[in-house]
Amino acid sequence: MSDAGAHKYRLATELVHIDCDSVKDNYNAASVPIYQTATFKQHSADGSGGEYDYSRSGNPTRTAVEAHLAKIMRAERAFVVSTGMTALDVVLRLVKTGQEIIAGDDLYGGTNRLLTYVAQHCGVKVHNVDTTEVARVEERLDPVKTRLVLLESPTNPLIKIADIRTIAARVHAVCPAALVVVDNTMMSPYLQNTLEQGADIEYHSGTKYLAGHHDLMAGVIGCRSAEVAEQLYFVINASGSGLGPFDSWLLLRGVKTLGIRMEKQQSNAQQIAAFLEAQGLTVHYPGLKSNPRYELHRSLASGPGAVLSFETGDVAMSERIVEGARLWGISVSFGCINSLISMPCKMSHASIPAEVRKQRRLPEDLIRLCVGIEHPDDLIADLTSALRKAGVNVKE
Ligand SMILES: *Cc1c(COP(=O)(O)O)cnc(C)c1O
Repeated sequence: MSDAGAHKYRLATELVHIDCDSVKDNYNAASVPIYQTATFKQHSADGSGGEYDYSRSGNPTRTAVEAHLAKIMRAERAFVVSTGMTALDVVLRLVKTGQEIIAGDDLYGGTNRLLTYVAQHCGVKVHNVDTTEVARVEERLDPVKTRLVLLESPTNPLIKIADIRTIAARVHAVCPAALVVVDNTMMSPYLQNTLEQGADIEYHSGTKYLAGHHDLMAGVIGCRSAEVAEQLYFVINASGSGLGPFDSWLLLRGVKTLGIRMEKQQSNAQQIAAFLEAQGLTVHYPGLKSNPRYELHRSLASGPGAVLSFETGDVAMSERIVEGARLWGISVSFGCINSLISMPCKMSHASIPAEVRKQRRLPEDLIRLCVGIEHPDDLIADLTSALRKAGVNVKE
């Protein structure tokens, strides 16, 4: 790990403390300026002189948010691209025909769709395994063919925990050329640092907690080695997937409040998980002591986050609960300051075929809650009323 990753202050402070020197602004602007330009004038006919020439290749506002995120993620280098799926797409360009990918079996729906495309069109084999069992990953490791091991922890929507540290160590021991890649969207860099746990690449949907307000789409990729950084930069520049100046600026603004948002959302989520568990419902949340992976998650992350899911045992009842909520917006996605409720099998994960959902034991009645920053009593009161209207006998 390079010294560039060393932090002077605690993460909550580092998030707010932006090094404006990464942008040489003539007017000492307190907020990094938006360089809304496609091209930059050069000093000479041979094109030399300027640090920037064309915004596909580089833009000062993008550089500022990338430098800030590299610091937060303790990465050698970080890149921002147009969406979270673009982040995965960029990483997948490092895989060649004939090579193999090992990935989880409870992945984000869009990830599943892109991996299926790659498997069908690019001559790459994708093994979907239960990454909560290290042995299931080990069985598929091939010292020659394995190129990527793609993990999410906690997974979404079943909130399953993978032992990232142990898996990364085993993968590197058996397949020195393989890259361990973690989609860390659910935890955000505030709660979990996977590069320190042995991942080679960590990526995020910046659309979620990093931006925090559901007003932009972005993807973030951080990596540990300069060599991998060069490969990633080549793809981003070649394909033109870098984030535009205005969205880069919005993302930087969002990141500054990641700490307080996450603390509040998490504390609300903890109270809601306890409330639902007290109703006798099956609740999936790594902040509950009843969660079999409670200790493992604590060893990987500094908190359980703000997404949880629960089962009611009845699809129609779940639908009534979702539709009965007033304060909770029915929406896909998470990471916003507003609380959201959804049924993954009908919404975010509907792109996974029904029989595959069944195979992966994704309950059709599952309700996902993405907890925001509202007052927890209002959130619980609204849930109570939705549960009662749906026929659940709620205990006070
Ligand atoms: C939302 C999400 C993505 C995709 O990100 P977009 O910004 O929507 O493209 C990938 N992984 C996880 C875990 C997500 O939640």
